[in-house]
Amino acid sequence: MTEKEKEFLDLAVIKQLKYTEIEKILGVEGSQLTQWWEDLKVERKKLSKIRKIWRKKFTAIDFWDFNKWYTETKRKCFYCNITEPEIDKLIKKGQIITKRLTTRGRSLELERKRANEPYDNLNNLTFSCYWCNNAKSDEFTADEFSNIGKQIGEIWQKRLNTL
Ligand SMILES: [Zn+2]
Repeated sequence: MTEKEKEFLDLAVIKQLKYTEIEKILGVEGSQLTQWWEDLKVERKKLSKIRKIWRKKFTAIDFWDFNKWYTETKRKCFYCNITEPEIDKLIKKGQIITKRLTTRGRSLELERKRANEPYDNLNNLTFSCYWCNNAKSDEFTADEFSNIGKQIGEIWQKRLNTL
């Protein structure tokens, strides 16, 4: 992706400016923007998805920093190590019985290791499964919870081994 294309994505998808404004800023014709909009469909969709998450709580962090963190951080629970494909497998095989699955559980959640700190620190941010997040609540620190997380991880492994 060229610098101009990246700038276009920032202006169109993240900042959501009008085409007329983007034309002025980038010094290009509208037809070029239409072309980019088509060509960058895959990147655009990925960014929109992450923008939605960012908008909920993380706007104190620069979007592109957040995006980098979000796309480069390994997607597994910080406490029990379970991954989304493993959660999926357990659900399909009836090894997860939580009733709340329609709303939470299938995907990893964003979690603050120190829950009393604001959302603007990427070092404090991690992925957690619903079960660890729920049990840790805002009561325990990541350190205090780490042994419990390991034990939950052992239970997941036992269940996965029976499949
Ligand atoms: Zn977990």
